[in-house]
Order: sequence, then C-alpha cells, then structure tokens
Amino acid sequence: MDLSRFPRRRYTEGATPIEPLPRFSAALAASCPGGRGPEVWVKRDDLLGLAPGGNKTRKLEFLVADALAQGADTLVTCGAPQSNHCRITLAAAAKEGLKCRFVIEERVPGSFSEAASGNHFLFRLLGVEDLTVVPAGTDMGAAMQGVADELARQGRKAYIIPGGGSNALGGLGYVACAQELQQQLFEQGLAFDRVVVGSGSSGTHGGLVAGFLGNRIAVSLLGIGVSRDPDTQAPLVRKEAQAVCDLLGLGLTVPPEAVQCVGGYWQPKYSVPTPAMVEAVQMLARTEALLLDPVYTGKVMAGLIDLARRGVIGAGERVLFLHTGGMTALFAYQDVLLG
Ligand SMILES: *Cc1c(COP(=O)(O)O)cnc(C)c1O
Repeated sequence: MDLSRFPRRRYTEGATPIEPLPRFSAALAASCPGGRGPEVWVKRDDLLGLAPGGNKTRKLEFLVADALAQGADTLVTCGAPQSNHCRITLAAAAKEGLKCRFVIEERVPGSFSEAASGNHFLFRLLGVEDLTVVPAGTDMGAAMQGVADELARQGRKAYIIPGGGSNALGGLGYVACAQELQQQLFEQGLAFDRVVVGSGSSGTHGGLVAGFLGNRIAVSLLGIGVSRDPDTQAPLVRKEAQAVCDLLGLGLTVPPEAVQCVGGYWQPKYSVPTPAMVEAVQMLARTEALLLDPVYTGKVMAGLIDLARRGVIGAGERVLFLHTGGMTALFAYQDVLLG
C-alpha cells in the first residue's frame, strides 16, 4: 500500500528495533505449565522519537502534518492526568513551533495534582500553554471545541486532535508500522505466531488491523484492553480499522474475526494499579532492563504473562509484544511499584 499521498512529518529515524527477551522468556517459562512457555520478543515502539516517544508518535506524524497543512498555530487535545498522548502531542508542538493546550479528564476523581511528577511534570517542562481539568464523563469533543472557539476569537487557529490521536488519519501511523514490521520480518528472516498489543482509544490496534489486512500479513493479532472489555472494545477497534481502510480506499469490509480482544487485565479501573501489573513491570525491569509503564504496557504484559501461564498462549509460541511506550508515567507511581 502506498501511504505517500498523505502528508507526513518524520519524528523517528529508521525502524524501531525488534529484540528477543530470552531472560524474561526463561523466567516466564518457569511459572508456565510443564516449565515451558512462549518465546517472547519485543518491538521497541517505546524508542520512537519525541521526548521520549511511544505509539502516539506514529499517529502524530500524520496528524501534525495535516495541522500544518491547514495553517494551524495551536494543537488542542485531551487525555487523563498522566496522559502520554498529551505529552507527546506537546513535544511535537514544541518541535514544530506550535502552541499546545489540553483538556484533562479526571477519570479517577481526585487524581489530578498540579504538583504531580511523571507526565504532568513534563507537561509543564515542555511548556503547555494551558490546560483545563474537567470531571469524568465530560463530552471531551465539545470541551476541545470550546478551547478552539476561544482561540478563534483571539484570531488564532486550533487543530483538534481526538483522544489518543485515534481517528482515520492517526491510524495511518499503525498502517505504516505494519508495513515496517513486514519489511523487518522479511529482511531479518523472522516469523511470529502472534503479535500482542495494548488496545485503548483503538488507533494502534485498529491501525494494525487495517495494515495487516491491507498488506496480507497473516500473523494473529491480539489486543489486550487497557480500559474496556471485548464487548465494547472490539466494536470500537473494528470501527477504527474500517475508517482507516476507507481512508486508504481499500474497498474492504473489516470482518469481525479480524479483531481479537481480551479484557479483564485493566480492571478494577483504567490507570489504577494491580498486583499483576506491578509483577510485570518489575519482572521486565529485572530480567531485561526493559521499562514498561503502569497504565498500559504493564497491564498488557500482565495479560500476556497470565495467558501464557494458563496455556492460552502456548509453549514454544513465538510472540511479539509491541511496546507502546509510557515509561515517563513510572515516576508518578513510584510507591506502588516498589511496594
Ligand atoms: C495510548 C497508549 C496505548 C493505547 O493505544 P491506543 O492507540 O490509544 O489504543 C498503549 N500504550 C501506551 C503507552 C499509550 O500511551
């Protein structure tokens, strides 16, 4: 598929590495049935560009290019108090000479603190122009439009980026990732039975579904929910994948079976720590010096670990874990992670 007709900014040099995780795989196997487990590898999307980057970097390459094409001077987006998406959007804005404003949804009541470390500290260091905190359940689209209207009254021009950068254009970032992955597997003579990825606002999972379908990549793709169970997450991902396919003019309908989701591991609530997340974050840090994050990749890896221990991800299976970034949030969860 040719993505070159879509304007794109580049924030990363080359492809993100694919690395084996032998010490982690051995430690995991020791707790799997019969002492045998999957062979786990990682694709390092935590090494994408933008201070430090993560999956949002790929989406922003297309979204920011569109903002610049439209003559915007300010990026407006939204997220949770420790949003990686907001932080990376702000980093892109700084790099492009744009201003940036957030609407922050306090999904867990009382979780916003002006003195917080982690991403919130970086919001301030990277120079966010303004942020508005709103309660859980607020219509975020309307709130961002309010910010854009206020800027328009001052003669400025906002470009609104939806939560997680997950619309059709943002999803192209993960079509590009699917193509990058396909090329790497070919060049490196690698093959995987399964790719495991976090599934939240759905641009990453949905973009990959579109990219796998469009490029005929036959590897099974499993999304582990970070905020929803499959009954609500799978339709969201399918809708995103369809929107991406339509934007690309692929002329195909995304079949329901192309979207595989598992739930449970995010509970009791989005961003709230669990013992399994703490185990996963500690295990990867101590076996591979790989830093996961407490909100997304820690819970996704907790899911992978549990599925392997239950034999759902089988012994000897070759699994590629997509590391979507987020390590800056670790610093806002210090007590929990060492407790
Ligand atoms: C946003 C985010 C995700 C989820 O990706 P979506 O495209 O929103 O589904 C996963 N991991 C990290 C670190 C994130 O910041």
